[in-house]
Order: sequence, then structure tokens, then C-alpha cells
Amino acid sequence: MVKKICCIGAGYVGGPTMAVIALKCPSIEVVVVDISVDRITAWNSDLLPIYEPGLEDVVKKCRGVNLFFSTDTEKHISEADIIFVSVNTPTKTCGIGAGKAADLTYWESAARMIADVAKSDKIVVEKSTVPVKTAEAIEQILTHNSKGINFQVLSNPEFLAEGTAIQDLFYPDRVLIGGRETPGGQKAIETLKEVYSNWVPEDRIITANLWSAELSKLAANAFLAQRISSVNAISALCEATGADITVVADAVGKNTSIGPEFLSASVGFGGSCFQKDILNLVYLCECHGLSEVALYWKHVVQINDYQKTRFVDMVVASMFNAVSDKKIAILGFAFKKDTGDTRETAAIDVCKGLLREKAEISIYDPHVTEDQIQRDLTMNKFDWDHPIHLQQMSPSPVKQVTVTWDAYEATKGAHGICILTEWDEFKQLDYKKIYDNMKKPAFLFDGRNVVDPEKLREIGFIVYSIGRPLDA
Ligand code: NAD
Repeated sequence: MVKKICCIGAGYVGGPTMAVIALKCPSIEVVVVDISVDRITAWNSDLLPIYEPGLEDVVKKCRGVNLFFSTDTEKHISEADIIFVSVNTPTKTCGIGAGKAADLTYWESAARMIADVAKSDKIVVEKSTVPVKTAEAIEQILTHNSKGINFQVLSNPEFLAEGTAIQDLFYPDRVLIGGRETPGGQKAIETLKEVYSNWVPEDRIITANLWSAELSKLAANAFLAQRISSVNAISALCEATGADITVVADAVGKNTSIGPEFLSASVGFGGSCFQKDILNLVYLCECHGLSEVALYWKHVVQINDYQKTRFVDMVVASMFNAVSDKKIAILGFAFKKDTGDTRETAAIDVCKGLLREKAEISIYDPHVTEDQIQRDLTMNKFDWDHPIHLQQMSPSPVKQVTVTWDAYEATKGAHGICILTEWDEFKQLDYKKIYDNMKKPAFLFDGRNVVDPEKLREIGFIVYSIGRPLDA
């Protein structure tokens, strides 16, 4: 019977996942550890380090009862029966595979730590998204660095989406557990299955071999991102022909074999996973000599980049081909609504594009801080063709950026507005008041198709949306 679970990594996945396990399995002690003292302090405070609807309630119910956050990694690893590893696996920034392969440095150091401190048999669970065959590398690190301890490595990729993490964890479409096809591997699968069985119906728990489980996560993210790039590619054609993407996507999605999800045209997908996981898939394909397959998936990311460039070009062209010294308000900076996460958000590229054109930008997002925005806008981005040579921003963007805590303040005196995140509050703003306080003509570029263009045109705005005719 599982008495104690330890999770290494208290991030967007480790925190919520362990909070839900603690809630659903009151007899198990769950401890989340992290090398970041700030993160652990925040998890133990009233101001959690991440914003996620419903998370606070779950944490409040379990924290101090059977859910704990700690920096005492060694103690909790050595006491746990199951160790989840949910550390970050970013894209490599240097050396072979830079710009594409997953950087497994954090994983390797977690595995070495487990091997160092474990004194009894452990089940080690890959929660992070990792390349196929990572489990094999982990097994080697664990067995070569410990004596007489049996480690069973399982792959249990997380399919939650930020913004709906708690709902996704309460009612998962599926829980996937991959393990070795040995008696030990199968026993470990059964042990983890028992934990999930506390709230997940039996028919939603899928068991597999390690490589199928690892690849399924990369494939799932690639398919989701591919749908967004597909609808965005069609949105470009809509703008060119006068078709309306909302009508086209609705008609396409009504086919039950296709379905309506992930068919909203937008300025592009973001988040820490889609791009990184597809790049990783591309790298895997290349390593296995599958260059045509690599090219196929690479295009999903390239269409996404193209969509962001197209958006910036549309803004500049519409505003009489010059945005230099013009104030442009950015409404929304997070990569999607209901999260404060800005990793790989489309807003970064759009803002950088406008800054390159020397626009003054004023940003408002209800859950993103000024520090996050300044950090994101000074970070460099990979260039596909020259992955090692980073693109430099010039001049420094920081001076041209102001961050406000109010949409009305952000838009005051602006020539144009770009809506870049689909926050519900942007549907309910007093656009007449906003229009009255803007320079004329007042432009609105809706990168998420959240406002009713007709209503805004009646007020006086010149409205551009994604994939919709100008006079719609
Ligand atoms: P994150 O950056 O928010 O959290 C990772 C945490 O791990 C950080 O707090 C970091 O300090 C900690 N860490 C790194 N090395 C450590 C070590 N040796 N010991 C202790 N702590 C350590 O990342 P995340 O968004 O939670 O993602 C984690 C993994 O889950 C990634 O592989 C990601 O691809 C995958 N994933 C993410 C999502 C998502 O929506 N964010 C969804 C599914 C899967």
C-alpha cells in the first residue's frame, strides 16, 4: 500500500497534480519539493505561485493535513514509496539539438538525487513531458548510482491544460501509465493505478509500454497544436477571399469526426508545451532519419510564427504603415485566459514586432505582473535557420513599454488596441468610454475574436479580426 508520495517540481503541473492526489487520497501523505525556495514559500502562503481556477480551494483543504510543500528534498525522497518527477524540460539552448531537443538537465539531476538518497525500493514516475526512451536513460542513472535498490520507472504523462487544470485533474479524459513489460514493471503499474482508482473510473486508466506512453504525450500536444495551425492557415485564406473563419470553423467542426474543439482562429498558440513538444518531435524524427515527417510537424510551428507576423503586419499596414511613436494598447499578455503563465505567449512576438516598428506599447493583463512582461520582452527568441545565433532586440524595448492594472488606463490616448488574450472581462468593457478616450481613427485588432466587430464599428472603431472580412 502506498503511504507516501513525493513530487520533485512544484510548478504548474507538480503543484496542482499533487494537490488533487492529496484531496482524493486522504490516507496518502503527499509532499511536493522544489529547489526554488521562493516557490515553496509561495505554496505555503496565501498567495500561491500560480493562478489556476479552483486550485486555492483544493490546497486550502489539504495543506498541512496530508499535503506539504518543502525544500527538504532528500528527506522526502528517501521516505516516499512513489516519486513523481515533474521538473521543467525546456528546449535546449546550446550544443547538439539546440533549439529543438528537450533539455533533460533538470531530470538528470533529479534522478541522480533519487539514486543518492534512496534506501529502499522506489517507483519513479515521469510526470514531465520527455522524449521517447528517456525512461531508459533514467533507469541507467538510477541503477548505476545505487546499490541493491530496485527502481521501477513509469511514464505517466500529464494531459492537464493550464486554466482548466483542476477540472482536468478531477475528470481526466484518460490517465496513461506506461511501464516495463516485466513482472516488476507490471506490479509498479498496478500500484500507481490503485492511486488513481480513488477517483478515476477504471475505463479511463490506460496502461501501455514505456515508449507508447512517452510518445503519446508528444503526439497529443502535436495534434492539438496542429488543429490550431490548421484553422489559422484557413483564417489567412478567409481574409484574402472574404470568407468568415467563424462560419467556416463552425461548419467544419459540426462534422462529428472533426468536432468543434481547438478550432478557434487566433493570433497563434503559446504556452510552455506546444512549441517545445513539437520541436522535440521534429528532433526525434530527424534522429531516426524521418526527414519528411520532421518537415510535416515543423510546419505546424512555422504556421504559428507566420500567424503572429501576419498579425503585426496587419496592425502596421492598417495604421497607415507607421506606428512609430504611436501608443498601442495590448489587452492580455498571458498565453490564454485563466492563467498568469506567459511562457511562449503570442503576445511576446506581437509586442516585439510592434516595438521593432518603434511603437509605444501599454499593456494590461489581469494576472500578469510587470516583472514577467519586462523579462519576457527582453528575452531572445530562436531563429529556425540559425538556432545558435540569437536575434537581438534593438533598441532595448523596455523603455517603450508601460504596464497598467486597468484596461481603461492602458487604452487612454492610444491609436490602436490589440486584444491578445481571450479574458472574459474584455467582452464586457465599456468600449464607448474607451473609444472616447482614444486618438481617432481608433483601431481595434482582435487577435482572439472576442468582441462583436459590428457593435464596435457602430461606436466608430475600425475593427480587424482574425479571418473575418473587414465589413462583416
Ligand atoms: P515549471 O517550470 O512550472 O515547474 C518545474 C519546477 O521544477 C520548477 O519549480 C523548478 O524549480 C523545479 N525543479 C527543477 N529541477 C529540480 C530539482 N532537481 N529538484 C527540485 N525541483 C526542481 O514546469 P511545469 O509547467 O510544471 O512543467 C513541468 C513538466 O510538465 C514539463 O516537462 C512540461 O512539459 C510538462 N507539462 C506541462 C504542462 C503545463 O501546462 N504547464 C502540462 C503537461 C505537461
